[in-house]
Amino acid sequence: MSNISEIIAEWYVHNKRELPWRKTKFPYCIWLSEIILQQTRINQGLKYYLKFIDQYPDVHMLASADLDDVLKIWQGLGYYTRARNMHETARVIANQFGGSFPSSYKELLNLKGIGKYTAAAIASIAFGEPVPVVDGNVYRILARVFGEHTPVNTSEGESVFRKLAEHILDYRNPGQHNQALMELGSLICRPKKPLCHDCPLAQYCRAKHSGLIPDLPVKIPKKASRNRYFNYLVFMHHEKTYICKRNSNDIWHSLYEFPMIETSEPLNIKQLVKHKEWESLMSGSAYQIRNISGIYHHKLTHQNIYARFIDIPVNGEAPYLEKHFISVTLDSIVQYAVPRLIERYLQDLK
Ligand code: SF4
Repeated sequence: MSNISEIIAEWYVHNKRELPWRKTKFPYCIWLSEIILQQTRINQGLKYYLKFIDQYPDVHMLASADLDDVLKIWQGLGYYTRARNMHETARVIANQFGGSFPSSYKELLNLKGIGKYTAAAIASIAFGEPVPVVDGNVYRILARVFGEHTPVNTSEGESVFRKLAEHILDYRNPGQHNQALMELGSLICRPKKPLCHDCPLAQYCRAKHSGLIPDLPVKIPKKASRNRYFNYLVFMHHEKTYICKRNSNDIWHSLYEFPMIETSEPLNIKQLVKHKEWESLMSGSAYQIRNISGIYHHKLTHQNIYARFIDIPVNGEAPYLEKHFISVTLDSIVQYAVPRLIERYLQDLK
């Protein structure tokens, strides 16, 4: 146990936030919390964690759940692939492992949606395996304390920082050590304006002593984002509208949405009504355009979605829509898992 790990452990005992997944070594709870916290901050994540635990108290319950219901609870967290992987992994654990999580870092890595970070968290916290967790918080502390300039998002950086993390790991209590480092990064060594006056590592911190805090950790800039333009058609036909399930190999797989025309550049309404998909969707229907919403911007990794919602009352028959879409009332859409973007639009309608 290094001096640094002793100091961090002491700090953690007196300063940690009391959270339900910190009071257990049950791997299901650790796994659930780690997957959720990759998506959001602790305050928000806690609500989702409690909802999941309430609905699915163990891995068997999650495994036997309907995917649509899981996605519904996940709604708002984004990156829905994580929820689908979580559901699939629950099934594997229930059906192939008799409901018990594999207990080693290496075995955990074979499960879908469990990468190095999550495997290390479960292995160390639930099973006491001495393996370091290296997440964004840990990268930041290590880069600053050791004055390490290797970019963190490179394979060389991964190796350099892993060695540093192993160097300070508390091999007798790796689970608490990993949680303590992450907590210190989250509460004290924050990305901007770290609270160095309250930091137990201040005397060891090279970045602090050399004025390099704003420069560390080093990251190679990400590639540019792609812009996508979603034109959602909110048909209103006899008090009902239409939705469909996204099935293509793209974002938001298995979520529901209004009929949509995607374009690679923004189109005005005159251009949009000439689009061939518009003609298919409208075939056999008499319609009018009642309203066009403002633009809803939704940022994803490497993608910017710009969406607008076009309110279209349909008169008489709507054979194409009836055949290809699910007819629902606007109020009942809440029962379906929808992207956050559509949730925002529905909230605005109220
Ligand atoms: S002294 Fe400041 S920069 Fe260094 S580890 Fe502590 S909070 Fe981070």
